[in-house]
Amino acid sequence: MNTVTRPRILVVGAGFAGVECVRRLERKLSPDEADVTLVTPFAYQLYLPLLPQVASGVLTPQSIAVSLRRSKKYRTRIIPGGAIGVDLKAKVCVIRTITDEIVNEPYDYIVLAPGSITRTFDIPGLTEHAFGMKTLAEAAYIRDHVISQLDLADASQDPQERASRLQFVVVGGGYAGTETAACLQRLTHAAVKRYPRLDPGLIKWHLIDIAPKLMPELGEKLGRSAQEILQRRGIEISLGTSIGKAGPEEVTFTDGRVIPTRTLIWTAGVVASPLIATLGAETVKGRLAVAAEMNLPGCDGVFALGDSAAVPDLAKGDGAMCPPTAQHALRQGKHVADNVIASLRGQSMTPYVHKDLGLVVDLGGTDAVSKPLGIELRGLPAQAVARGYHWSALRTNVAKTRVMTNWLLNAVAGDDFVRTGFQARKPARLKDFEYTDAYMTPEQVRAHVEGAGRR
Ligand SMILES: Cc1cc2nc3c(=O)[nH]c(=O)nc-3n(C[C@H](O)[C@H](O)[C@H](O)COP(=O)(O)OP(=O)(O)OC[C@H]3O[C@@H](n4cnc5c(N)ncnc54)[C@H](O)[C@@H]3O)c2cc1C
Repeated sequence: MNTVTRPRILVVGAGFAGVECVRRLERKLSPDEADVTLVTPFAYQLYLPLLPQVASGVLTPQSIAVSLRRSKKYRTRIIPGGAIGVDLKAKVCVIRTITDEIVNEPYDYIVLAPGSITRTFDIPGLTEHAFGMKTLAEAAYIRDHVISQLDLADASQDPQERASRLQFVVVGGGYAGTETAACLQRLTHAAVKRYPRLDPGLIKWHLIDIAPKLMPELGEKLGRSAQEILQRRGIEISLGTSIGKAGPEEVTFTDGRVIPTRTLIWTAGVVASPLIATLGAETVKGRLAVAAEMNLPGCDGVFALGDSAAVPDLAKGDGAMCPPTAQHALRQGKHVADNVIASLRGQSMTPYVHKDLGLVVDLGGTDAVSKPLGIELRGLPAQAVARGYHWSALRTNVAKTRVMTNWLLNAVAGDDFVRTGFQARKPARLKDFEYTDAYMTPEQVRAHVEGAGRR
């Protein structure tokens, strides 16, 4: 019988924040100091910034799905499933496993890093007809979908159908939307040469955003450069514009234009994982309100970070919170592990401080804009910095090799336009990919945990 009562540390989410935290705990804690458990629906850490390159087929899906089981120090127990509720009083996390069983996992320390989901608005038809760009399945699906539009347009004799299949709309002028539009436009531009019956002039990409600028964090000059590159490539950019209505074969813009299209990609921001709402604790714009040490004030042993937490940005000051970026999530992951260990050992915790290192935006091929440490770069130097940064941030040598090989292959052999056919017959859109209806309410969590206690 196991009579050892080591403190139990439960980490929720295997993204940038969760994985860095687990790795640090494995490295710094001796096995008899604490038990570490990780809850994650997938067996990999997804390198999200390279997702648009999976959608465009430059990278294979496997190359950015970094295995969780490759570390030499690996000793964490992994529960394959998703947390659907947390009872802070009882210190129990409710988990739905990948086989749909509901299990209760007690903890002494919990680190919440479930990331974010696509932010949607109450726009008629949006969740039924839009795709997101947040999961590997979505990226792979979009690639197949876009190529199938070319195939179907090529086969069609109906000019109206052709026109609607060859127009594509991306909403969101942040880095996710801009890179997605840029990478996919390159794909269709290259692919159309293999469809001699299709008029390349009919292919049209729209990138729209309600904000007056693309990627304002790039600054005036660099933001304008990115816009010029995209416009030169034929992408129509509409700023100060959003979607009024979405349907299966057309999208209505708020400026009144009706665009015939079967492809609406929605990347207009993110909100914290619905798991955060199950805690019934204070939030800031949906993110859990934590202290600069990333602990939840008044709740012993509860930590949150990454996209799901409102971590004060002490480097910026003025009450700012850290933006939802991989750059912060990764560093917060390491820092939170140190604070969990400090708390476990009765030492004092330290606040998280990190000054933003800048932004890299890969627009495909040799097109890119980057602003590392405030230095503005365009073209090849910007691309070298962008790819160099992502490449070095990949956690394993296998992932690094896969990504580099894919880039070299793409540079030498060009794009490939194979539709794999994994696409289901039933369209899968935003509402199907992110499991947003899987979560409990705070009351359901409490009732479930109390019920299990009585049994
Ligand atoms: C297309 C795209 C491009 C981007 N480009 C950049 C970029 O260039 N630079 C940059 O800094 N940032 C970029 N970002 C943002 C960056 O990826 C995120 O800020 C970062 O991933 C946040 O890290 P995280 O650990 O909080 O969440 P994530 O990395 O999203 O990880 C969350 C993890 O939790 C898991 N999970 C979710 N719900 C549950 C649950 N209920 N139970 C258990 N596990 C759960 C998820 O499966 C996932 O593995 C980009 C994002 C996107 C979508």
